[in-house]
Amino acid sequence: FDMFVLAYVERIFRPTYKRDDIVLGKKLGEGSFGMVYRASLGKKQSSKDGEIVLKKATEYGAVEIWMNERVRRACANSCADFMYGFLENSPKKGAEYWLIWKFEGESTLADLLQSKEFPYNVEAMILGEVQDLPKGMERENRIIQTIMRQLLFALDGLHSTGIVHRDIKPQNVIFSEDSRTFKIIDLGAAADLRVGINYIPKEFLLDPRYAAPEQYIMSTQTPSAPSAPVATALSPVLWQLNLPDRFDIYSTGLIYLQMAFPSLRTDNALIQFNRQLKRCDYDLIAWRQTVEPRASPELRRGFELLDLDGGIGWQLLTSMVRYKARQRISAKAALAHPYFVREGLLALSFMQ
Ligand code: ADP
Ligand code: MG
Repeated sequence: FDMFVLAYVERIFRPTYKRDDIVLGKKLGEGSFGMVYRASLGKKQSSKDGEIVLKKATEYGAVEIWMNERVRRACANSCADFMYGFLENSPKKGAEYWLIWKFEGESTLADLLQSKEFPYNVEAMILGEVQDLPKGMERENRIIQTIMRQLLFALDGLHSTGIVHRDIKPQNVIFSEDSRTFKIIDLGAAADLRVGINYIPKEFLLDPRYAAPEQYIMSTQTPSAPSAPVATALSPVLWQLNLPDRFDIYSTGLIYLQMAFPSLRTDNALIQFNRQLKRCDYDLIAWRQTVEPRASPELRRGFELLDLDGGIGWQLLTSMVRYKARQRISAKAALAHPYFVREGLLALSFMQ
């Protein structure tokens, strides 16, 4: 009995759906490669799987279904709960891939970041009723830390499976109301390097606001898409050499930055930050030195937050946002970083 048999049996016993089972609701998103709707399962509805999200995808739908199936089996908790994907041939639009997920909740991290209440609005969601604790920097730090831990946990699941997401941004992080945790969505630009699926990076899919400076996930010396069996044999080596997972780490570092600095939460501010950082040769420490002397009180407060506990947050941030992929921390190593580890914090305070 091996993995393939299990996967096969799982597929047979899983419910399947077709066009007529799905009742469309309001539109949630519209990208160049598909549309996303809130929807429900009319007659097929059981108490648990009634509320769904439907994506009608064109070119990359097949890859996205493949990625979601793989995540479902290998690291289910990392991403939104994928239910089913199928090819739908419509007479008007031609071939379309339809993908359905459980509706995880109303808010993406982008929505939550837009609120003046952030991060307290998230605390309420994670903990349910919020105790009447004093609001202050320590408390904000704890909430942001929890979000970062959940994000890195989800990312570590993907990376350990061999998947690089390549489009990590607050819009692609959803708060799952059932599990009270953040999950990753939108595997439309993802690459699975272990089996060579979507091996040739589609740079044009990448969001420049959150993309790491390296344009190509794999170095240009990497041979172009080998056949699947060859890729399986080669890719662990390529993974080691090129560390493609660190692309996602850079993007996650930018999310951390936006959580710490309210003034960097708008698109324009982030674009301006990227320009400044580029001028500093992607050296975050140099960036800090240029902006801190004439920083607004708001910006200064962000640095203060990152400087808590001996600057352990700032240390984590600077190990994620680095020019060279090789010098960026991995998701797994980040989870073991003293920023997340109480004992580490204690050890650190003894050392200082
Ligand atoms: P796009 O390719 O349009 O970016 P996404 O997969 O990111 O497609 O979905 C678009 C939007 O739909 C997301 O930003 C989110 O608001 C919402 N969404 C996607 N999946 C889910 C889900 N499982 N539960 C709740 N909302 C979702
Ligand atoms: Mg998206």
